[in-house]
Amino acid sequence: MRIAIASFSHETLTFCPEISTLEAWEAGGILYGPEALDTEGEGQGYITGMKAAAEGQEDIELVGILRTGWPKLTGYGSWITTEAFDVITGRIISRLEEQMNAGGLDGVLLALHGAMAVTGVPRPEAEIVRRVRKTVGDVLIMVTFDLHANEDVEMANAADAVFILKTYPHLDAHEIGETAGECMIETIRGGFKPTMAFRKPLIVSASVFQASEFNPMKHVYDRCREWEKKDVYCASVAPGFAYADVPDLGASVFVVTNDDRALAEEAAQDLHDLMWSLRKELTRRLPKAKEGVAQVIKMIDEGTKPVVIAYHDDRLGDGTHILKELINQGAENWCSTGIADPDALKLLQKNHKVGDKVTLSIGGWLEPISGESIEVTGKVEYLGSADWVETGPMGLGAHKHIDLTAALDLGKNRHVVLSERLSAPMSADPLKALGLDVDSFEIVEIKSRVHHKAYWDTWSAVDYPVDPPGLGPADLSILEYKYLPWDIYPIGEKYRR
Ligand SMILES: [Zn+2]
Repeated sequence: MRIAIASFSHETLTFCPEISTLEAWEAGGILYGPEALDTEGEGQGYITGMKAAAEGQEDIELVGILRTGWPKLTGYGSWITTEAFDVITGRIISRLEEQMNAGGLDGVLLALHGAMAVTGVPRPEAEIVRRVRKTVGDVLIMVTFDLHANEDVEMANAADAVFILKTYPHLDAHEIGETAGECMIETIRGGFKPTMAFRKPLIVSASVFQASEFNPMKHVYDRCREWEKKDVYCASVAPGFAYADVPDLGASVFVVTNDDRALAEEAAQDLHDLMWSLRKELTRRLPKAKEGVAQVIKMIDEGTKPVVIAYHDDRLGDGTHILKELINQGAENWCSTGIADPDALKLLQKNHKVGDKVTLSIGGWLEPISGESIEVTGKVEYLGSADWVETGPMGLGAHKHIDLTAALDLGKNRHVVLSERLSAPMSADPLKALGLDVDSFEIVEIKSRVHHKAYWDTWSAVDYPVDPPGLGPADLSILEYKYLPWDIYPIGEKYRR
């Protein structure tokens, strides 16, 4: 039994300025052949789960095909070029062809993301599956997706089975990889007949409102698990990724059963109806930077602390709106954990060392929406590369390395971390690696929506999302979509006043 595994994954933010070229993909790293399955030092993910499904079964051979990293850019990558898509998909196809000719294949597992946006390819993941199908014929193709997948009926038609994460923060990639792997193996052995139903609730929502441990999405995932107790093999609901301007934008429901069409359809319709009933709860207003930081300072004065400020809509990394307010409003005991500014870092590296007092302009250079660059004066307290092993729930056990980072001490226990690219600490580890005394902070500002909560909710009294101008806003009506379906709630033409 030979099962090929490939992973080509991206969450494309089409409103960002930096295009995801083939060069950026290559710089981010692409693994081929057996190396694609080498997960040493990475923590758990889809591939470790797929490998776990096959463990101890000597008649199963997993065949590594290709696995991409993330394109190397400052912030979120925008449109993937047609060239990058065709070339990387082509490399998957040619390697699958080789395997078909040398011993054949019984199945193909694809770990995709679902929120790709490619110039000239309206539904990239469905297109990947179709190209794979053309190569492998009626060999089984099963797909895993991130919870931020934007998919529609084309995917349901293309793949034999689809499995999607149920947690945000994403903590179940291993589990979903294993679910897909087990389904694949059982199907090849003849003990399972994947039968899939699909629905498309016409709802798009900002990521910041999609946390799986809180309503409304908790309600949805609880219902998925109820269906799974009633003979559904896997019930998946992706709320989708609002910041990719694609025609299949928004939520999707995939339900897989073992040869039970009626049950699959019933569960999919129920989950569709539930999502639709929750549409208003998936859209809320959040405070802007000035108002939000003032609220946080008030909370701290009243004894509610420490507070995490989720600067959720900065998808470029150079956003300064919160930092500016923290300084202007006189807050103390805080850490701004990620201002992306490679030039400022290079300048520090060239002219300074730890202990130097410096004045420099940071952030606010990539796009006007990020805010103005800010002049800060302080002491260099860390400068260089950083390494740590993640002990928080996100990426637990992963060995992390960054080439160049710095921390500046601005006095009054105020600290700024500079990075080369958009970055957010998923636990206290990356800050501790820079020698920062995390427990002395009353405010930690993090450029993340939900992932950080897996750890930081255990540290803070309040997680406080703030909506300064940014390219991933809570208020989706400020974005200019070109390919938006007219009838999608709440921003399609049908619902616009
Ligand atoms: Zn995601």
